[in-house]
Amino acid sequence: MKPLIGVTSDMDKNGDMLVQSRYIRAIRRAGGVPVILPVGMYGIEDICGRLDGLLLIGGEDVDPILYGEEPHEKLGKVVPERDEMELALVNSMIDQDKPVLAICRGHQLLNVAFGGTLYQDIHAQMSGDLFQHLQLKDLKFATHTVDIVPDSKLAQIAGTSEIRVNSLHHQAVKDVKSPLVVTAVAKDGMIEALESTAHRFVVGLQWHPEAMADRQDTMAIKLFEEFIEAATD
Ligand code: MN
Repeated sequence: MKPLIGVTSDMDKNGDMLVQSRYIRAIRRAGGVPVILPVGMYGIEDICGRLDGLLLIGGEDVDPILYGEEPHEKLGKVVPERDEMELALVNSMIDQDKPVLAICRGHQLLNVAFGGTLYQDIHAQMSGDLFQHLQLKDLKFATHTVDIVPDSKLAQIAGTSEIRVNSLHHQAVKDVKSPLVVTAVAKDGMIEALESTAHRFVVGLQWHPEAMADRQDTMAIKLFEEFIEAATD
C-alpha cells in the first residue's frame, strides 16, 4: 500500500481551500498518496493515527504570539486557525515519530512547534547584506546556494556540501531548540534547513523543492523520495 501523506492547505481570499498542485505532483511522483487537510479540519488525532506522513506547505506568516513576540510592523498576514491546526498536526505526528516534511512557512512553523523563534521580517531584523530571498524569477529555478552541514540527514540525501535552491520568503528561522538542528545555511547567514536528531524523519526546508522538482531537479526529487520512503517503513 502506498503511504498516505497529509498535506496542509492555504485559504484563498474567500476562505476556501487552496493547495498549489505542484505539491501534489511531487508526492505523486515519489509514490505517496496525498490527503489534503483543509483549515478547520476536525479529528486531528484520528487523522494523524491513519496518516503515514505529513507535508506542511508554504503560506502566510506564523503568528509571533506563538513564540512570545509582539507583531513587527513588517509582519505579513497571519491565519491563527491555520497555525493552531498545523501545530496540532505536527505535535501528533512527532509524538508518533511519523515523518514530517516542512516547506517554507511549514519549516518556520516546525521550528516554532519545537520552541524556536523566527525573524518576522528578515530585511528589518537581520544585519548585513542579505541576498534576494523573495526571488523574482520563476520558482522552478534556483537562485542562491546553501552550505549543507556534514553528517546530517540532508547531507546524506544531497551527497554534496553545497546545493542551489530557490527562495521565496521574508521571514526566517532565528533561534533553534534541540532536538532540532540547523542543516543548511545560505552564505548571508540565513538558516535554510532544519532536522530533528530525535526522530526518524523530521525535515524543514526554507526553499521550495516541489517547484524545482517540476524541472527535474535531482535533489528536489530525491528529497520527496526519501520522505515517502520514510513514510513507507
Ligand atoms: Mn532563501
